[in-house]
Amino acid sequence: MARPKLLNVENLTLLGIVLGVVYGSFWPEVALHTDVVGTLYLKLLKMLIIPLVVASIFIAITSLSSKEELKSIGLKAFVYYLSTTALAVTLGLVVFNIIQPGAGEHILQTQTLNIAKKELSLSDFLLSFVPANIFEALSKGSILPIIFFTIFFAVGALFIQESKRQTLYSFFDAVNDAMMELAKWVIALTPIGVFSLIGATVAKNGLTPLLQLYSYVLTVLAALAIHAVIVLPAIGYIFGRFNPYAYFLRIKEAPLIAFSTASSSATLPVSLEVAETKGGVSKKVAGFVLPLGATINMDGTALYESIAVMFIANISGVELTLAQQLTVFLTVTFASIGAAGIPGAGLIMMTMVLDSVGLPASSIALIIAVDRFLDMFRTAVNNWGDLLGARLIEALLRR
Ligand code: ASP
Repeated sequence: MARPKLLNVENLTLLGIVLGVVYGSFWPEVALHTDVVGTLYLKLLKMLIIPLVVASIFIAITSLSSKEELKSIGLKAFVYYLSTTALAVTLGLVVFNIIQPGAGEHILQTQTLNIAKKELSLSDFLLSFVPANIFEALSKGSILPIIFFTIFFAVGALFIQESKRQTLYSFFDAVNDAMMELAKWVIALTPIGVFSLIGATVAKNGLTPLLQLYSYVLTVLAALAIHAVIVLPAIGYIFGRFNPYAYFLRIKEAPLIAFSTASSSATLPVSLEVAETKGGVSKKVAGFVLPLGATINMDGTALYESIAVMFIANISGVELTLAQQLTVFLTVTFASIGAAGIPGAGLIMMTMVLDSVGLPASSIALIIAVDRFLDMFRTAVNNWGDLLGARLIEALLRR
């Protein structure tokens, strides 16, 4: 018998989010203990990431009918990632300059910083793409080098004997299908997983810092909303000629899970599932654009970082020149590409951005209290950007 429409996973997930907030606010002690349910759910999702990334990218590339098609999808994805990230950073800077949060405010440093300081230079950044040992990268779960290897592996396979390529293709295609089947099972657990995760997040962080840093929080949320509701849909509508809002309603489960987990990577199994089964995106486009996007295309993170660095400068009484704002623009773009799809990754990359304009990395302590809260929203926007990109590229290829 078909499930009643009202009780589908999407609605139950929304309910899980709302009940999770209530649960974490009123019973924080209990919510911290039941955290294990959410952690288990996250582990189940994460368990699927590496096999899915490798299999989906491999079959996406080897199923292309020609090398021209590979170039065409690759180029389109690259242009989309870069231009939407640049738009997000610009929007962040513009909204910041209009609202000017933190101007004249003096905010007490309420938390001490215990993030290990890492020097992140450009050369480290470039070197981090290439794995010296693919098994090490696999066991450490370093997604960027894994993607780099898989793309090369798949392109290499395009040059070998047809029958051998077919063997590899069939193997990875079967792996992909089996993983997607598992993903469906894990997705069915989403409402309960999300309830537990949100409950624990609210219990841990409380709502007080949100009030203290309200001008900063509101600026980030306003800019994220503009990007998600106006900028991205406009791109889909103008260049892809599809209705982005109707598309959003079909795939909304993925951004909801991104919101609840604050992890683009953990959301990947769900993104692939909804894009292919409900969003009308083909396996080859979804398999290429989504895993890559979950790792390097982070509009929400880029936008948040540009506002965060300007805010920190503002409350530290430092005025950034136009040239410094340009530096912010470039570093933030790289920082968002380099940020892993895991909770808090954007905050860690902030050290690089702060450094580029001479602000001490330790000033992240000023915004750390609200970071998890903002992380949920920016991850949802990161995910929505990837899904919109997949649909757009699908539309462009069908022309
Ligand atoms: N949590 C974000 C993501 O997974 C990255 C960030 O911290 O901004 O997409």
